[in-house]
Amino acid sequence: MKITVEVCEIYKTIQGEGFLIGSPVTLVRFQGCNIYCSWCDTKYAIPKKEDTKRDLYEVLEEIEKLGREHILITGGEPFYHQSLLPFTAALIRRNHFVQIETNGTLWIEGFELLDRKKLYFSVSPKYSVDYKIHPAFQKYCDELKFVVDDNLTLEVLLRDEFLPLVKEKKLILQPEGNKEKYLHKSLKLIDKLLQLGLYARLIPQLHKLVNLP
Ligand code: SF4
Repeated sequence: MKITVEVCEIYKTIQGEGFLIGSPVTLVRFQGCNIYCSWCDTKYAIPKKEDTKRDLYEVLEEIEKLGREHILITGGEPFYHQSLLPFTAALIRRNHFVQIETNGTLWIEGFELLDRKKLYFSVSPKYSVDYKIHPAFQKYCDELKFVVDDNLTLEVLLRDEFLPLVKEKKLILQPEGNKEKYLHKSLKLIDKLLQLGLYARLIPQLHKLVNLP
């Protein structure tokens, strides 16, 4: 059976966000997202587009040619595509380490069966859906990344669904667009969290600082 993946970009770069910042990666961007964020910096990847459908094995071959072990799957929203599961499984079979960046709203049954040591979930809840996440990400979350903008509040970070992850020191605050005012807001949030015995890391977007895609 022919499997297709909706991929609009594949290129070598460094991971510019989160705990794995600076890692050399091959970035694979899925086309299509199930929600809309006003500040989205990849708006071209939001609509689904028929012409981005590509044969799974052709995409895997292109990835192999780039020669990097760490594959960063981003979007759009990767979990918007059922093909994410066979694609990720194929990458793991080929000994890749697979990091998936997701807005956390969707899950695909079957990911539970994949090798957890080869998988890394970067979950970034979004204001546009009131920061709702699928319950599976209580378990499948290696980092919980919030964009700090005018909307984010301490109350959101302390919600029942996020608190266990915050206590595991998985919380990352990422100032929107690396803007100074959101950097200061992030610092204030970190102080408030520390007063509550909680911990977060402030990590700006490295690729924007050094002008990488
Ligand atoms: S979830 Fe991500 S890709 Fe989708 S609109 Fe929001 S920022 Fe853009």
